[in-house]
Amino acid sequence: MDRLSTLIQDLYEAGRHPKSTIEASLKYTGKSAVGCFPLFLPEELIYASGFLPIGLWGGISGFQLADRYLQSFACSIMRANMELALNGSYHFLKAILVPSQCDTLKCVCENLKVALPAIPIIGVTIPNNRTIQAAHQQLLCEFDYITESLRKLQDPSAKPIPIEEAFEVYQKYRNCMMDFITTVPRYLNTITAKMRHYIIKAAFFMDKADYTRKMEALLIELKKQPEETFHGTRLIATGIMIDSEPVLDLLTDLKIAVVDDLLCQESMQFRTPPREKGSVLSKIAYRLLDLQAASVLYEPMKPRGNLLGDIVETHHVDAVLFCLMKFCDPEAFDQPLVKKDLKDRGIKMLSIEIDQHVDSIEQLRTRIQGFLEMNL
Ligand code: SF4
Repeated sequence: MDRLSTLIQDLYEAGRHPKSTIEASLKYTGKSAVGCFPLFLPEELIYASGFLPIGLWGGISGFQLADRYLQSFACSIMRANMELALNGSYHFLKAILVPSQCDTLKCVCENLKVALPAIPIIGVTIPNNRTIQAAHQQLLCEFDYITESLRKLQDPSAKPIPIEEAFEVYQKYRNCMMDFITTVPRYLNTITAKMRHYIIKAAFFMDKADYTRKMEALLIELKKQPEETFHGTRLIATGIMIDSEPVLDLLTDLKIAVVDDLLCQESMQFRTPPREKGSVLSKIAYRLLDLQAASVLYEPMKPRGNLLGDIVETHHVDAVLFCLMKFCDPEAFDQPLVKKDLKDRGIKMLSIEIDQHVDSIEQLRTRIQGFLEMNL
């Protein structure tokens, strides 16, 4: 295997196998892990406190225990996380941070406090109206509370670092990821939709400094290759996530590439640039306040459709792929608005339902093939 293939395969496998990746990261860093529920959290605070932040985005599809706390019509990410919490998979975590970005998350945060009495659950309140100055102040107070809560959990071996240093590590990671995002469209044969997804996902389970080093090496090798011509359908993906292996396999099978995305689990984790001025804590706060286009955000003008339209025009792609998370109300409310804004700009949109539990992919295959034949 050449160097580029090895680098791609390393991160791809790291994203596909969270458990072994987390075990390796804990060994490599010597840190204790703190779990981070979706969607957006100030991870730098955890990193600065000397812990390893780990993303908890579901990943299983069989539920026996979760029904004790969650109705069957909750999204599969939260049902999976609840199941993993109850079956002991989170036993190694020092704490779990749960943001308040949707109603399901708010309930799950309280449920976890009862279901997991041995693990501190730190609820993080993200202000709804993000445009007023009080939102910034509230976040700074929230950061104090998170830092203090984590400080109480540090054991004598913990090695906290200044928040400025943690911010640097994360900023380098974010810049590197944006480089990856803008480079991928030139290499759509090498970086398939599935590869792209798992390579990005791997960062949730690794030390960000270590991940960034590997990603930088991958990018150097990738950019040495001649640009590729892709004979297939080019889409922009949007939604909470596209994290379903059968769906990703199907896209690859149908020669569909994901050229760019506005997915909460992918580029929206690092897409928002930091403000230039202010303290590091203020920059972290504004990164949450400046986020755009996630369905859970309160945005009176709902810019998501037009932002997608801009990305479509930049990359000359064929259509938008709306990955509608099953039983996710914020996404269901956003979908018709996005569709209308895209239609007004003459852009096609294909909606597919995403559930981490997939019984059969054949109906979806027919839907996608039908869309491609009728629209492109
Ligand atoms: S935003 Fe949607 S997918 Fe995310 S936790 Fe809430 S209901 Fe689930």
